[in-house]
Amino acid sequence: MRENKECKIVQDLLPNYIEKLTNEETNQFIEEHLKECDECKKVLENMQKDIQLNAGKQDKREVKYMKKYSNKMRVLKYILLALIVIYIAVVLRRTFIMFTLSEKAEENKSYDNYYAKIYSYQGDSLIITESYNKGGNYLTTMTRITDDGNQKTKLTFYNKDNEKIALLESGEEKYILNSETTTGWNVSPVTYVADSFLTNMELAFIIGVDSDYCNGKECYVIKGSSYERYIDKETGLAIRNIDKNIGQNDRIVDYEYTFNIVEDSDIVKPDTVGYDNVET
Ligand SMILES: [Zn+2]
Repeated sequence: MRENKECKIVQDLLPNYIEKLTNEETNQFIEEHLKECDECKKVLENMQKDIQLNAGKQDKREVKYMKKYSNKMRVLKYILLALIVIYIAVVLRRTFIMFTLSEKAEENKSYDNYYAKIYSYQGDSLIITESYNKGGNYLTTMTRITDDGNQKTKLTFYNKDNEKIALLESGEEKYILNSETTTGWNVSPVTYVADSFLTNMELAFIIGVDSDYCNGKECYVIKGSSYERYIDKETGLAIRNIDKNIGQNDRIVDYEYTFNIVEDSDIVKPDTVGYDNVET
């Protein structure tokens, strides 16, 4: 009976004993009892087996969870990697497009025979620039027209074989300007891409580049936060530039270039009869 009561106590203590929660004195009491009691020994062994089994199950569950978790992490890693690869591809594509355009533009800018027509609009103001260029000679006119039609201003720049003439017409008034200080106004073909690969690459991180159509031409449009620049795929030159001015009207400039069509006879010396000389 006494034995049996001690067994009950020991068996109650065993779980704590296994977990090493019992104190030294209790341990001694349990261990002494176990030496003499096969039944309690058996109970202990069974408890230990159970714990190991459970621990094994727990481990398996944890392993399963970790596997699932690391699979998820792996998928995330691949997605992130894919996004980085896509982003790099996009930036490289933009860079190559702009660099290729700049090479084409460089080629076309070197021609010394071209006709340029440029329309610049902002609000009710329109400026039309026409420029004939051949072998360093040029005739350029800039006409400003405003909505009311009264304010019409025209500038003419003529430069042929070192003879320079600059004229200003404003309404009824006509002036000959000092050509030494006012000439040099020939119009060069415009592009909006840098000629350095790295500069284009830097730009490629902050701007968008898309295929588009503009003024009937296939082009790329470069979009920044405050501008849209349409560049001819064939020539690398500007077709249209839109500057978005906050609080003002957008400024839109349309460009047209035609190469190798300018004749000497297109660069006509302007008639200065009726123009007054002004000192500038
Ligand atoms: Zn016992």
